[in-house]
Amino acid sequence: MSSKAVLRRCVTCRELLDRQQLWRVIRLAEGGMALDQGMGRSAYLCPSQRCLEEAKRRKRLQKALRCQVADSIYAALEQRLHPTSSAGAEAR
Ligand SMILES: [Zn+2]
Repeated sequence: MSSKAVLRRCVTCRELLDRQQLWRVIRLAEGGMALDQGMGRSAYLCPSQRCLEEAKRRKRLQKALRCQVADSIYAALEQRLHPTSSAGAEAR
């Protein structure tokens, strides 16, 4: 193992996890928001429905990033949890 684990805290449940296991939401230095990659203030979130919903309801990302978080950011993260939800596929 050559790479060291970098721990980050989920904005919702406050759990410390390896950065690679978390979603990263970035408030870009040049303006706007990005996911995963970019330069700027970052907030981290567990890739789970619970933490995503809670973050949205309690405006955790807004508080951590000190800016508005567009619905499209939440929608994009929800898409990652349910890539085929619009098709209504229940089978696995
Ligand atoms: Zn969490």
